[in-house]
Amino acid sequence: MDKYDLLIIGAGTSGAYLARRVAQMGYSVLVIESLPKDKIGTKYDIFHIEQREFERLGIPRPVEGDEAWAFEFEKNYNSDPLCLYAKLQTNHVVGLHLHEYTVLMNELAEKAGARILYEAKFKSLLFDKAGRVSGIKYTYKGEEIEAAARITADCSGIEAAARTALPDDYGIENRPLTAEDMFYVILRYVKIKNEADYLDGSTFWASYKSWIAPCADPHGAIIGLGACHSFEYAEKVYEEMIKTVPLPEHEVIRTERGRTPFMRNFHSLVGDNFIVSGDAGCLTKSINGEGVTSSIYELKIAAAAIDRAFKTGDTSRNSLWRINTEYNRTQGAEFAMLRALLIGVINAATPDEFQYAFSSGMISDEILNAVNGSPMPAKAILNTGRAFISGIAKKNISKSTLKAAARALKNAAEIFIHYRNYPETPDGFEKWCEKADKIYDRIGKIK
Ligand SMILES: Cc1cc2nc3c(=O)[nH]c(=O)nc-3n(C[C@H](O)[C@H](O)[C@H](O)COP(=O)(O)OP(=O)(O)OC[C@H]3O[C@@H](n4cnc5c(N)ncnc54)[C@H](O)[C@@H]3O)c2cc1C
Repeated sequence: MDKYDLLIIGAGTSGAYLARRVAQMGYSVLVIESLPKDKIGTKYDIFHIEQREFERLGIPRPVEGDEAWAFEFEKNYNSDPLCLYAKLQTNHVVGLHLHEYTVLMNELAEKAGARILYEAKFKSLLFDKAGRVSGIKYTYKGEEIEAAARITADCSGIEAAARTALPDDYGIENRPLTAEDMFYVILRYVKIKNEADYLDGSTFWASYKSWIAPCADPHGAIIGLGACHSFEYAEKVYEEMIKTVPLPEHEVIRTERGRTPFMRNFHSLVGDNFIVSGDAGCLTKSINGEGVTSSIYELKIAAAAIDRAFKTGDTSRNSLWRINTEYNRTQGAEFAMLRALLIGVINAATPDEFQYAFSSGMISDEILNAVNGSPMPAKAILNTGRAFISGIAKKNISKSTLKAAARALKNAAEIFIHYRNYPETPDGFEKWCEKADKIYDRIGKIK
């Protein structure tokens, strides 16, 4: 049986990034990928990465002329349903072709020394006598093959082939995602009919979880919408949205559909000789379901922990636990807080209330910048508070929405603090989960 230091299931952006990082450290890495190379990253075409992320995460930055590059833009509007009071934020975003970018990431991993086996499908986990993961069985060219590894990483995307094959008592949640745990995203690639409507940036309507953004064609756009439950439900929301939102006149060229996890990340991302990441670990952003760079943030932590584990010869859950602690106390805490706020506000506020929030200045540039990580000036908080109180006095905001907003703020603060106190070691983990689940029960799910 072949033996590797690290075995990765899935050669999407997550698996390819981890493979490159760990191979660069001189360890042997095998990635198995069920698709042929010319089909990887073809689940949809265009995805976005914020300019600042390339350097922060050390990932390749394609430029105009490269196959993976599609377009870039800087203007991002957050808009009221009627598009009367859109707030502009400047954030440099690069649009990339997912297939070409995934191929690029794969080739970089191979250059670093990782071996990628395409058309090789994960079948089952292998366990040692003590019940710890010791490798995998996979199928390749009609044959069943076993491979052993010091650590196995599940980067197989939303279906989480290996995570869902773990025994119940392995310390990682092993249930498959349900329709309530994911976003059904529909993308319409359109041609805009009137020159005056050509886009200079993207616009996001939080009230409908929908957006219009540039595409590779400067006279075109991508109209996107994400909703829980099903694609049919997402289409219904779209029908509602176009009754209010004045979209530019357009012709639909093609439509793409895809699913992305839209739930908290799993409470633990590590077990003995095992880690889970990417969509398989639900590491997507709680604001919009994007998951490429948020997963890579966690994988950067994981690569350092794997290096330490190999050097000390200890690949146990205890040794890999630092991935959980470092991740959950940082990005995990931020995502949990934003999730609580988003769910609370979106579930409660009506389109009219959203309209008021924009027109009254309750939602300001500063508040939106703070959602993206900038510090929030005291004056902005004061202005938001004033507009809020005035909205209640004038009945622009209902009492039930007021109560829901107060609850959302309380839940957001509580879950943030709880994640910041994520246990240093597996001791106390069960208690931490119990409390987290109680808070999440109060937060609820997005409608
Ligand atoms: C419509 C849409 C638009 C999006 N836009 C953005 C965006 O703009 N920015 C952003 O950051 N994110 C975006 N996302 C989310 C992003 O696409 C995912 O978070 C990201 O692709 C996850 O990468 P991954 O490597 O974890 O999983 P995947 O890309 O799903 O890769 C998993 C790989 O594992 C392979 N695999 C699966 N099962 C097996 C098996 N049994 N054996 C072997 N191999 C297997 C699969 O073939 C696949 O290649 C979007 C999602 C959707 C649906």
